[in-house]
Amino acid sequence: MKVSNIKLIEDNIETVSCSGDDISGRHPQIFLKVNSEDGTVECYYCGKNFIQKSMFKKN
Ligand SMILES: [Zn+2]
Repeated sequence: MKVSNIKLIEDNIETVSCSGDDISGRHPQIFLKVNSEDGTVECYYCGKNFIQKSMFKKN
């Protein structure tokens, strides 16, 4: 997991939207469902990792 491309989200968020950014590149906006087991989801366009705050602290 690339630590340089992580975006922390609130613990109660189940779906995130991603449209990229200037660093990793823009892409069409998509919605991603957060994995309920580990609290993370990776954007398949730009590789950005969304991680729930409480899950991130455990690592
Ligand atoms: Zn993305």
